[in-house]
Amino acid sequence: MAGAATSSRSAALVERAEGLFPGGVNSPVRAFRAVGCPPLVLERGDGAYVWDADGRRYVDYIGAWGPAILGHAHPAVIEAVAAAARNGFALGATHPLEIELAEAIRQAMPSIERLRFTSSGTEAVMSALRVARAATGRDLVVKFAGAYHGHSDGLLVEAGSGLATQAIAGSAGVPAAVAATAIVLPYNDAEAVTKLFKASPGRIAAIIVEPVVANAGVIPPLAGYLEHLREVTSADGALLVFDEVITGFRLGFGGAQARFGVTPDLTTLGKIIGGGMPIGAYGGRSDLMDLVAPAGPVYQAGTLSGHPLSMAAGIATLGELDQERYAALEGSAAALASGLTEAAGRAGREVAVARVGSLLTVFFRATLPADAAEALASDREAYASFFGAMLDQGILLPPSQFEAWFVSMAHGPAEIEATLEAARTAFAA
Ligand code: PMP
Repeated sequence: MAGAATSSRSAALVERAEGLFPGGVNSPVRAFRAVGCPPLVLERGDGAYVWDADGRRYVDYIGAWGPAILGHAHPAVIEAVAAAARNGFALGATHPLEIELAEAIRQAMPSIERLRFTSSGTEAVMSALRVARAATGRDLVVKFAGAYHGHSDGLLVEAGSGLATQAIAGSAGVPAAVAATAIVLPYNDAEAVTKLFKASPGRIAAIIVEPVVANAGVIPPLAGYLEHLREVTSADGALLVFDEVITGFRLGFGGAQARFGVTPDLTTLGKIIGGGMPIGAYGGRSDLMDLVAPAGPVYQAGTLSGHPLSMAAGIATLGELDQERYAALEGSAAALASGLTEAAGRAGREVAVARVGSLLTVFFRATLPADAAEALASDREAYASFFGAMLDQGILLPPSQFEAWFVSMAHGPAEIEATLEAARTAFAA
């Protein structure tokens, strides 16, 4: 097996990390536990490639978990960050770069009339829901099983048992009273949403949804599903919040809302808009956003919000994106998906490849899942073996069956072919 176990510098670093960080990491997925492999220590990235602490090179599909749509260390982004750094870092007042990035975002996503920058997606979502509750005077929020919206208390919840669908804490340390402000429904089940709003009229502040689920593996919305969420919320006076932390600027310049033609009241963003630097943002209709302090009564703040280095990296990243490049990215991802399906078929392996734009998941099950429960019924051990066999051949996949592969604009025909070549071997093993 490649990685830390057989390589001395990585192994030594992993050992030191284990004494410093819980589970040896600063974010759980980095521990590679879901695939039973020693964690990688990555210290360099360039284009479609990353290098571990022993100098081993991998074709990278983790993509920094979403931001790296241009690939790693894009020259335009490096230059922009370096130029910004020479002017100092956070200065504690409004910076011209904040205005520039906000205008670029608003132009791409017209539903965002006003916005606020945060330092993470977690903060963006937490704050957007605070606005939704303030705007409606209601406490309950609906989310969908398998979706991830960051680690704030109110969203670290899972479906409770029984008909009530009232959420229970999905993490130790979340107060039951806070978990009870969320309701968890199955994704793609329009009827469940209709029923809930019929049973609880005027009580739900918002539905928050990943318009394409990317955190249970990739699950696209069924035809008409997002439109249904829009109709039901509007009819009840509840808000529709699209969590586009992953899909924003990933599924095209206008995100999922442009791709599916459904307009949310509020949108949350992160990842790509910061070009790999820490960032989040939430925005939407100006009457809603004007509830945020100091314009309105909803408090939300941040010492490092709108950080000039994040703004510079985001502006440079968005500046590199255009229709032609999105079309090429779609082409690479489509070639990868169809090649993977073909390779699995030839090897007689039962897999279903889900893909929306440059997000894809190879599910080790016979059919594409429509919701998280179906996704969870995949063969995780088969995924773990596949992951290991790919890693041995220099291809780094997300270390979990339930995470999306992120294809970047730096993945060219050579990288896609190398991936498929490795997959033919891995599926056959
Ligand atoms: N929402 C979605 C859809 C996400 O995928 C993530 C993180 N992967 C978040 C919110 C939280 O973002 P962050 O990790 O920047 O707090």
